[in-house]
Amino acid sequence: MTKKELLASLEQEMINDTSLPLGEARLVFGEGTADAEVLFIGEAPGFHEDRLGRPFVGRGGELLTECIKSIGWQREQIYITNIVKRRPPDNRDPLPEEIEAYKPYLARQIEIISPRIIVPLGRFAMNYFLPDAKISRDQGKTFTVGKYKVMPMFHPAAALRGTTVLNQFKETFGKLPAVVSGEIEVIKPEPAQIKKSSEEESPQAPLF
Ligand code: URA
Repeated sequence: MTKKELLASLEQEMINDTSLPLGEARLVFGEGTADAEVLFIGEAPGFHEDRLGRPFVGRGGELLTECIKSIGWQREQIYITNIVKRRPPDNRDPLPEEIEAYKPYLARQIEIISPRIIVPLGRFAMNYFLPDAKISRDQGKTFTVGKYKVMPMFHPAAALRGTTVLNQFKETFGKLPAVVSGEIEVIKPEPAQIKKSSEEESPQAPLF
């Protein structure tokens, strides 16, 4: 099977999986090319995504698309998805058990695409790969997580809330071509070396 076919089959499996939480909402599986070198991962669909069945199509999505174009890329050449693939009610944060339930599917989606670079957008997606990282400290840094290069960025919605974060978001975005080409090296150690203090142990186990 091609990567595209594998993704289509995974999507169907998710649709059939009635054990997944948030089942009353629409599944927003992700979009882009299955051969993408760069994979963006957000938190969960919002109102607009739920309506259209596509990730990042609201205001945050407009900013993401604008930034993708600003570095000479197009949405069609990358892949965009979310950890939790159904909209939590009233746009609340996804619950830990919802993240847990959707995680195995995300892991398989990542394996199928096998991108060169993964860009988690915001802390929920970042903490999936780097449980001990802090978004304001670690966004824009490049990490090795298993066989993937991971560069967390602020969530576009956070960038829309203030100029400082917006400027940092754009600056980090500007680094992406150099990270893909290898000009910017992965400077950070494995996340296992970035230890959290024991009293705030993360409930989320790293996947890679
Ligand atoms: N926010 C996200 O995290 N993902 C989307 O798809 C839209 C908004």
